[in-house]
Amino acid sequence: MSRGTAIDLCYLVAAIGFIIALKGLSSPRHARAGNLLAAAGMALAIGATFARSGLAHIWLIVVAMVIGVAIGVPAARLVKMTAMPQMVAAFNGVGGGAAAVISITEFIGSDAKLVATYKVLEVVFGVLVGAVSFSGSAIAFLKLQELMATRPITYPGQQQINAVVGLGILGIVLTILVTSSTALLWVLLGLALALGVIFVLPIGGADVPVLISLLNSFTGLAVAASGFTLDSNVLVVAGTLVGASGMLLTRMMSVAMGRSLPNILFSAFGAVVTATGGEAGDANRAVRTGTPEDVGTLLAYSRKVVIVPGYGLAVAQAQHTAKELADALMEKGVDVFYAIHPVAGRMPGHMNVLLAEANVPYEELKEMDEANPEMPTADVALVVGANDTVNPAARSTPGSPIYGMPIIDADQAENIVFLKRSMRPGFAGIDNDLLYDPKTTMLFGDAKDTLQKLVAAVKKA
Ligand code: NDP
Repeated sequence: MSRGTAIDLCYLVAAIGFIIALKGLSSPRHARAGNLLAAAGMALAIGATFARSGLAHIWLIVVAMVIGVAIGVPAARLVKMTAMPQMVAAFNGVGGGAAAVISITEFIGSDAKLVATYKVLEVVFGVLVGAVSFSGSAIAFLKLQELMATRPITYPGQQQINAVVGLGILGIVLTILVTSSTALLWVLLGLALALGVIFVLPIGGADVPVLISLLNSFTGLAVAASGFTLDSNVLVVAGTLVGASGMLLTRMMSVAMGRSLPNILFSAFGAVVTATGGEAGDANRAVRTGTPEDVGTLLAYSRKVVIVPGYGLAVAQAQHTAKELADALMEKGVDVFYAIHPVAGRMPGHMNVLLAEANVPYEELKEMDEANPEMPTADVALVVGANDTVNPAARSTPGSPIYGMPIIDADQAENIVFLKRSMRPGFAGIDNDLLYDPKTTMLFGDAKDTLQKLVAAVKKA
């Protein structure tokens, strides 16, 4: 077998590994194995690339890899689960930027006049989409890290500026296709970077994680384009997989939030967030508060308790204590499961990851569609740091920013207990009528602390 065939075979095995890995990532049980398989596939692809004949600047490549590893490994190990979206934004952005730079250097390195039009198109696509992804991800990172305002940013003449940049890009793309001008490619890079910024600035609040998923998909497409430019099948396959899965994830997130993608991208959802965010509830409405002892007794004498986790569980890092409580209840013969909303927390699968970390068995996690039919038979819905994902306004209040979002039907349970620190709203910044429901008991405090007290109360009951 020739060296070239062996390398191609390695790439094929790596590509098959990526596809199987993606399948593994779709269930918590196989996610870790899927991740490892993808990493092994990537290692094989990198190894095979080093075996290619005529590879130049090997030491430069090695130095770049060492720098990447030195940054990537500690960043991935140290990142807090709640900061994961901004890390994805940062890593995704550099991926898009790399794809754009590769397209440019390949174009400069070739004799531009001889390059076929379809090759120029690949380069132009790679530069445009990669650069939009780079600058867009950078702004998304700054917003999520709260280094700039998270709300949608609008300014006078926005539409006109967008139109000028859009038309400018179109004109330059057409001119490059005709003239193969390298100088214009740099202008295109500049305009594409500007487009990424002005595309992301008006998107804010809860929409930013959805945007990151979309930008992730853009990066995949840019990488696929640079794969065509470099004649690298493995880059084409890997890029297409990222592009397609990013697009699917974006769609799933918008469906889970009950919104269309155009609505997320082009309407200022976050404006509502900032207009009402931080409200401390309605001081004139009565709420029922409880003690850990009352609630502990209620839980211990229930037949069925549904734990509804949300972002507050992640903030309090109370996943282990939640499991302790569930175990204590199960020991008393109570039927317990966790109802998982697809956008609970701040990233898809946030609650699954958190609860898996606490070794909660997968059988105890029920996705929203499976959990909701059981809610009317639950004695208690124990809402731990969730808010928007159980807010009935999503069903009943047209005009509410979360109207249309499917929710966990916690209101259908016989009793509802909220573990949160105050009457403050959740991410969408809107009041939650369920907090004032006569069936609801509020147990104020940090979720870890209150859960610990509940464990003690349940064991005593
Ligand atoms: P929410 O953001 O609606 O509510 C979280 C609640 O947790 C707050 O009301 C807060 O109340 C409480 N809380 C915070 N810290 C603590 C703590 N230490 N102890 C106890 N409670 C705490 O969370 P949900 O998970 O219900 O909803 C997720 C929101 O994020 C939705 O609006 C969703 O659309 C949005 N989103 C989710 C994405 C995803 O992929 N998961 C992506 C994009 C957006 P208090 O301050 O009173 O304690």
